[in-house]
Amino acid sequence: MVKPWPIPARTLAIAALFVVPLLVLLVWARVVLGIGPGAGARVPAYVVRLALPDGTRAVDLPPVLGPADASRPLVVIDAGHGGHDPGASGEGSLREKQLTLALALALRDALLAQGHVRVALTRSDDRFLALDERSGIARRLHADLFLSIHADSAPSADAGGATVYTLSDRGSDAVADALAQRENRADTINGVNLAGQSGTVSSILVDLSRRAMRGRSLRLADLILREGQGAVRFHVDPRREAAFVVLKSLDLPSALLEAGYISNAADARAMTDKAWRNGFAHAVARAIAIFLAEQESRPLGA
Ligand SMILES: [Zn+2]
Repeated sequence: MVKPWPIPARTLAIAALFVVPLLVLLVWARVVLGIGPGAGARVPAYVVRLALPDGTRAVDLPPVLGPADASRPLVVIDAGHGGHDPGASGEGSLREKQLTLALALALRDALLAQGHVRVALTRSDDRFLALDERSGIARRLHADLFLSIHADSAPSADAGGATVYTLSDRGSDAVADALAQRENRADTINGVNLAGQSGTVSSILVDLSRRAMRGRSLRLADLILREGQGAVRFHVDPRREAAFVVLKSLDLPSALLEAGYISNAADARAMTDKAWRNGFAHAVARAIAIFLAEQESRPLGA
């Protein structure tokens, strides 16, 4: 005969069923969340520091692709956003930074296929670049043209089509202002508001140069609209001006191209389609080729 246990095993099992998870929960809360008895007096064992670009460092220059002849015009293509800055969001996991990179790569290929111009990309993978690093790459490479590629987004799913923006000190309308603010926000991430740097450009010479560049940038925008007909569906009001930081401080023709709306189902479908991207890229590459040929035959000031 076996001496009976003072507490029936069944009761113990039921008690354990409640007590064990509770103990596990308490230990988890104490260790992981740092709450519980004595937690207030706890000194963190370590501090996580994230190294963010300070916005002034000189990033490594990307490779220059295409003909080895340095006298050939150099086009710098800037895929918007990247890394911890995803840009606008679309359906599911679709992010603007993926579309801008895919479009930039397609444009690079289309330009290289022409065989006349040299091409560099500000980024060719999923990395973060501050806005002044993007324009800085173009400046340091002595680029002849800078094109930043983005995908727009709007609260209304009906808004659709591509838009070409050139730099202005004031946006052409409230929509352009809002967009510029959204795109420019990527630079306040390091605590430095680069939008406030425009005060340094005050000399008459700089002003004259910027006026000339503004005219050239407008011509580039016109050519993109013209050559894009058929391949690209444009917004009803496709040519705009806005105060984009990424275009500021650039003394070369530059534009920001919103290839479509990531928030519009048809646009998002198009931009994720390789064949559409190729059509888009060849149209824009054609516009760039015409633009550069015109500039060559009509130098600045002529
Ligand atoms: Zn963007």
